[in-house]
Amino acid sequence: MKLTDISYARAVMEKHGIAPQKRFGQNFLISENVVSRIADTAGLGDSDLGIIEIGPGIGTLTQKLAERYKKVVSIEIDTSLLPVLEDTLSEYDNVKIISGDAMKTDFAELVREEFDGMRVAVCANLPYYITSPVIMRLLETDGLFESVTVMIQKEVADRLVAAPATAEYGAITASCAYWADIEKVFNVSPANFIPPPKVTSSVIRMNIHKEPPVSVQSAENLFRVIRGAFAKRRKTLSNSLAGETSKLTKAEIEATLVHLGYRADVRGETLGLSDFAKISDAMVL
Ligand code: SAM
Repeated sequence: MKLTDISYARAVMEKHGIAPQKRFGQNFLISENVVSRIADTAGLGDSDLGIIEIGPGIGTLTQKLAERYKKVVSIEIDTSLLPVLEDTLSEYDNVKIISGDAMKTDFAELVREEFDGMRVAVCANLPYYITSPVIMRLLETDGLFESVTVMIQKEVADRLVAAPATAEYGAITASCAYWADIEKVFNVSPANFIPPPKVTSSVIRMNIHKEPPVSVQSAENLFRVIRGAFAKRRKTLSNSLAGETSKLTKAEIEATLVHLGYRADVRGETLGLSDFAKISDAMVL
């Protein structure tokens, strides 16, 4: 019996006296096709790979990952799911469940302890209440992972892959481009989950850069420039940045932008990562 079979998934939950919990963002997958495609996307057939999964739920995606990859370590916050996972994953000897909060996990330590010398990727059907902070935590691990494949709200996925000068483009797009090449792989409708979420979902794959695509004197200053550039949408970049720093006046920022070859009234949302890198090296916020 498969966990993607809705009546079997329901029977497993009933046996253990549990129901999906809203406060943990629990929407369990019930589509064999979707679960297999996410697992395939995570490692692209590389069976030597180690996988860290966030939020195994009742173990549906975990099973598919264990069938494809060398070792799977899954972090689950909801302790009431631990007996369920022990049951549904009993036939897999390459899976370890860690009871904990992915927002507090020390991923470098986890990789050292569980995946000594292995290449590691992340895969998850993420709980939507913490999508952006989890993604930022995973990307900021400085090349610890080869790739991060996650299912998230379509709206957030569209922002992550947006081009400059579009409505979806923002600080998160430009910041994440520093860490990874992001591709949207496919959309998933609410009917593929129990309970169905209110929004359409998307699976994205983030291919982590070995080296950042731009080199800057200070990555921290770069992220300050990017945040500052989008702090006041529909304002000029100089106006927006001046509002974020007491170190430079609007006139000084304008002069620097012009010196770099931009119009004095250029808008942040029209610029790409390489523009922000150039600007970051020319002004410290
Ligand atoms: N992987 C399962 C699936 O696809 O059916 C469940 C996905 S469900 C959307 C999200 C899972 O993440 C739930 O099991 C939830 O309990 C767990 N979760 C929520 N917040 C978490 C956190 N901070 N750390 C680890 N797991 C978390």
